[in-house]
Order: sequence, then structure tokens, then C-alpha cells
Amino acid sequence: MYIEVLLPVPLADTFTYFVPPEMESQIGAGSLVLVSFGKNKRYSGVVSHIKQVPPAVTSTIKPVLAVESARPVIRRPQLRFWEWISNYYLCKLGEVSKAVLPSGFQSEKETSYSERKEPFIRMAPGYESAADFLSIFKKVKRSAKQEHLLLAFIQFAKLSDAGIQEISKKELLAKSQSNDAALNGLIEKEILQKYEKTVSRLEIYGKELKPLYTLNPLQQQAYNEIVQSFRQKDVCLLHGVTSSGKTEIYTHLIRETLKLNRQVLFLLPEIALTTQITDRLKQFFGDKLGVYHSKISNNERVEIWNKLLNDAGYEIILGVRSSVFLPFRDLGLIIVDEEHEPSYKQQDPAPRYHARNAAIVLATMHGAKVVLGSATPSVESFHNAQTGKYGYVRLDKRFEETELPNIIPVDVKELRRKKKMKTIFSPLLMERMKETLEKGEQVLLFQNRRGFAPSLICKICDWTPKCRFCDISLTYHKRHNQLTCHYCGRTYQLPKECPECKNTELKTMGYGTEKVEEDIQALFPDVSVDRMDSDTTKSKRSFEEIISRFENGQTQILIGTQMISKGLDFSKVSLVGILNADALMNFPDFRAYERAYQLMSQVAGRAGRRKTQGEVILQTSHPDHPLIGNILQQDYEGMFNRQMEERELFKYPPFFRLIQLTLKHRNEELLRDLANEYARLLREKLGDRVMGPDKPAVAKIQNLYIKKILLKIESGASGNRLREILEQAQKQILDNPTFRYAVIQYDVDPV
Ligand code: ADP
Ligand code: ZN
Ligand code: ZN
Repeated sequence: MYIEVLLPVPLADTFTYFVPPEMESQIGAGSLVLVSFGKNKRYSGVVSHIKQVPPAVTSTIKPVLAVESARPVIRRPQLRFWEWISNYYLCKLGEVSKAVLPSGFQSEKETSYSERKEPFIRMAPGYESAADFLSIFKKVKRSAKQEHLLLAFIQFAKLSDAGIQEISKKELLAKSQSNDAALNGLIEKEILQKYEKTVSRLEIYGKELKPLYTLNPLQQQAYNEIVQSFRQKDVCLLHGVTSSGKTEIYTHLIRETLKLNRQVLFLLPEIALTTQITDRLKQFFGDKLGVYHSKISNNERVEIWNKLLNDAGYEIILGVRSSVFLPFRDLGLIIVDEEHEPSYKQQDPAPRYHARNAAIVLATMHGAKVVLGSATPSVESFHNAQTGKYGYVRLDKRFEETELPNIIPVDVKELRRKKKMKTIFSPLLMERMKETLEKGEQVLLFQNRRGFAPSLICKICDWTPKCRFCDISLTYHKRHNQLTCHYCGRTYQLPKECPECKNTELKTMGYGTEKVEEDIQALFPDVSVDRMDSDTTKSKRSFEEIISRFENGQTQILIGTQMISKGLDFSKVSLVGILNADALMNFPDFRAYERAYQLMSQVAGRAGRRKTQGEVILQTSHPDHPLIGNILQQDYEGMFNRQMEERELFKYPPFFRLIQLTLKHRNEELLRDLANEYARLLREKLGDRVMGPDKPAVAKIQNLYIKKILLKIESGASGNRLREILEQAQKQILDNPTFRYAVIQYDVDPV
């Protein structure tokens, strides 16, 4: 018997292995097997299928070394979904399986899954039925402590799946307030028995479930419209302003799906948001809800995977993008919250998939419906709603009808000219911060750059310290008094002098959250301030702590990057400061204005979510810019229409599909030749759909030089034909011995 196995190597989709006769009966599609690969590597891999026809040449085929799981570790529809991913996003099936299988399934021993055992207590053999109790109690008559413990056992032990009364030792001792001595006495008398039982690491929700909130009339209407649109369309865009109660609408859709005995996947763009939403959903759905993200342990990951695989409990999964790959039995509904978020796109490594788009395909495979929710939809999704491909439901009023925040622009260029910008905070923002704090309310300050200063510069000759391995200037982090490369993470000492002109004075250029924090602390020494960016939230704990300190009012001012813009629901924030709108808009990317609009509207939306209207101070040097106008008026369509004109003109999505090719090599000249040759080969077939090769803004990372080629393909063109063209060109390049060590990566629909 010969089988095809998925291995975590980007060389081919599957690899052929021979099954020794004694293993034949154990192996089927989906089984997990251990195989050797190359000279001395061993991998665990999923069996994709059994070969009907033996391969032509069998002498080089290696045998399977061991069967790690005879039972399938994936479900059949999953494999279909993986195939779609590898096809569409131009990567190998094994790369998909590597990215999605919990690593407990993937490698031998060291990282593999281990069960958690705990001591449990049950009645000893011979004492299983109530009729025996009389004789038991006679045996413990002389020890009040043992009698007490035994009574507690009878009261608290529960019937297990295997049909015996049992309780964990820990729980028994806690509930009976007994000690080991009493328990050991009963064990010695052979009344109770202690044994090790496998237990779950997943937390159990002990509280009573609450009924869902009743939707208000506008929410109910939106709900009805969504249900209505599902009669004709599979995807519905819920365009609801911040704090309109989209989450409450989701809960009602979830409940209806569960009633049909189907499953729900609730996607969030970022682990950061899972805590708040988990708490909100658990109170309604309790243990039916499973949470899946990158910061849970590998063992928990395996447990969640197995629980889904064995239909052992979860009906709702709340998770980040990778949860689209879990072994769902029958999805009825997928919710993609904050659907516009770029973090739905996986950057590195392959598969570079977009979880929102992949979720829509996954839904089709399950016959499920999809709700895309956002206050600021992506241009692509809004376009799909306008053309009628998606249903469209709008929710324009906040819950409790609080007005959307009042956004006030401040012209910092003008203030600078008049020498009135003494700090990075305009006089108006300073005044409002004081008032807000005096009223006991909270302030959010948004600056989308971490660190102290994006770069240092020599006062005399303009020299800037750069990373030795990446072509990028280093960010100054004052707290650690060092320079950091935000691309490779390397850190450097501060230079004592400029190596070019020996001048000892370096000045900072621009500012990041760390400087904002320092300045705020100097200006408001009595106020407690916190900062939320990727430097202060390395662990999930620190993230939760910052949020909970802010929620319970220990912190008055929270400073942050885009992390504070997303979905968080704070009740006492009445002022938001956007410190530098221009930095968001001046990004060299066709999505810069869309992103800037989304980010600023979202951060603005954090102001005044209950009862009172909030205020937003928006600092910019271009108060007359049309995009600023759109933001002030909360005119989404205005932004959308202008963006669509530009995208049509310059051939961008949604009119064209983009594929970004990234070429890397250690040698700059070889890379140049290789990129030119690759572009030439592609132009033969694709003509002027090929842009470049270009040198990207960061042209060297980790000592590898980088060139990019961009393809602009008519939406609707054949994916298969395109894949053939790319594969052929790639093969021609890599077959050339000169270019052997080149790295070639594809990014389909880059964001
Ligand atoms: P969105 O997801 O649209 O930003 P949320 O669902 O977070 O809005 O709602 C904002 C706040 O209003 C939340 O605290 C939520 O619990 C509350 N809320 C919304 N709708 C209702 C409702 N029908 N009943 C009770 N509370 C509600
Ligand atoms: Zn200098
Ligand atoms: Zn670097």
C-alpha cells in the first residue's frame, strides 16, 4: 500500500510513502504517520489519501516508520479547504498543514502533547452501591473526621462518563475542609480509592448562564434584515456605527444557529480583543464557547482541536484568523467582526491568507452564512455590498442613542507658525485634557508609532543610525536607552558621536508613544498614565492588566498605537486625542487613506460610548484635506467614492487583483539580475500587467536584499492559468544554477 503524506516542506504538495503490511489496517485518509525525509529528518504528517495505483518507480520510496494516530486527526472537508488555500494563495499543501496543525501533532517527542493527570477519588470495589453504606459507616464510627469526609464524598461526587461516582481529590478536600490524613485513613480501610485521571486544561465556566439582552427596536430591525438577506445571499455586511450593539446582534444570530444544532465561528482580528468578548459571550453561552488564539499553550490547542474533532462540546469558537482551520463538524454561521482589519491577513510565513476571504470560502463549503461587521467597512466589502453580491444592513444609531463624538480639527502647522505648539499637545487638547480629568473622566491618546523617536539625526550632517542588517533607520527607545530595528528586532547602543563628522549632538526626529507618555507624565505629574503598544504588551497578561486598570479607573490617561482603536468598549472615556493625523495619511500605499479613515474613525468611536457625547481633538497640518473633511463629517461614502475613482484609474482592487512577488538574495547584483530576468519571463506572458521589479522602501532585511514585482490582474481572470505561468517562470529561474539560493515568495491580495 502506498500513501500520499502532507509534510511541512515547501517543495511539493504531498510525498509518497510505502506502508508496511502490518500497518495497513491502521492507516487511512487523515491518519497521522511518522516518516523520514531527506537524509536525516523525521516528520509527522497527515495522510491525504491512499494511492489507488502504485507509483511507477518504487525502489526509492521510503516506508512509514510508525502510525502516530490511526484515527483521523482532521475531517475530510478540512482537507478540501486546505487545498483551496494552497491553490489560491500559491503555496504548498504541506505549508498549510504546518501552519494549521497544532505542533503537538507535528513533531516528535519534545513538543508533543501531554495529557494532564490529577488524583481522583472513588469508592473502593465492593462498596459501589448505596446498600453497602450501612456497613461502611460502621467501619468509620470511631473517627468523626473520616465520617465527615465520607459524607462529603457522597454529597459532592458526580457520576462520570464511565458511570462511576467520583470527584477530584482537590475538590473533595476543599469542599469537605478535610485533610490528607482523614482521606488516607479511608483509603487504608479500602473504603475509598485514589487513582489518576486525565483532566482537561480548559477552564470550566462555573457561573449560571444569563439570558440574552433584548434587542432595541433598531437592532431588532437590523437583525430581521440580516435574516431576510440570508434567504438570498450567503454574506451580509453589517455596517453599524461604533457602539450600536453589533455584538448583541451577533449573540442573537448565534443562539438561532445553535438551535439548529450547527456550529458558529466568531472571528476577531486580534487576540487583544478576545478577553472582553469572551467575557461577554461566556455569560450567555458558557462552556459551549471555546477560545482559540496564538497565546494559548500547545497542549490547550490540541485539546480544543480534539474536542472539536470528537464532537465533545464546543459549539462556538471565538478566535483569531487561524481558527478558520479548526475541525468543525457543521458550521452554520461565521461572524467576522471588524472585518476591515488588516490583521486578518497573514503576512509570514506562507500561507499568506486573508481570514475574512478564506472564511467566506469555508462557509460555502459548509453551507454556512457569513456576517461581516464593521463601523468602517473595507472598500472591497462595501463595494461587494453595493454591487449586490453581499447583503447590506445598516445601523446608524448608537445603543441608547448617544450622539457620535464631536470631532474638532486643530491646525498644528498654523499653531507652530505662531509659536503656540510648546509641546506635542495643542493648547486646545491641553485645555480639554485638564477639564476631562477634573470631571473624573478618562482620556485616550492615539499615536500610531511605538518607541520614543522613529529616528535620530546628526545636527550637523544629517547622518542617521541604521540597522546593519536591514535598510532602515533605528528607532530610539528611551527607557532602555537603546536603538531598536523594528524589522529584525536587533538592538544597538546609542552612538557617542556621529561617525561621519564626529559631532556629539544627535537630535530626535518625530515621536512615538514612549515620548508621548514621558511628556504627559511631566505635564500631569499627579495623573496615572498607561501605555499600550507592542512593547508594553508582550504577554497576554500585560495586555489584560492595562485594559482592566483602565476599565476600573486606576488609569486616567491611556496612550496607545492602533491597538487602542479596535473594538474595545470603555464606558468613561469622554476625550480622544489624535496626535498626528498626517503621519497616518502619508503612507506610501494605495490603502493609506482608507486605513487612515478607518483608524481615526475607530479611535474616535472610543469616545463617549454611554449617555454623554464624547469629543475628539484631531491634530493635523492639513485641516483642509478632503480625507480630514470625510472624517469630521463621518462621511464614509465620501471617502469610499473618492477611493474607488483612484483605484479604477490606477488599477487597484476591487477592480484588479494584486499579486506581490518578493525576491530575496544575499548578493545585491545577483538579485538585480534575477529580478530582471523573472520580470522579463512574466512579461512575455502577462505583458503590462507586470510592474517592476522595484526596490521597496526597506530594501534589505536580515541581510537579504529585496526586490518586488507587482502583478495587476483583471478580477475574474483564470487563477489556474496564472498559477501555471508563475510556476513555469519560477522553475526557469530556480533551475538556473546562478540563482539557486534565491528566495521567492508570493503574496496574493496583499494588504
Ligand atoms: P458595537 O459592537 O456595535 O461597538 P456593542 O455591542 O459593544 O457595540 O454595544 C455597546 C454597549 O452597549 C455594550 O456595552 C453593550 O452591552 C450595550 N448594548 C448594546 N445593545 C444592547 C441591548 N440591546 N441591551 C443591553 N445592552 C446593550
Ligand atoms: Zn554628523
Ligand atoms: Zn534590522
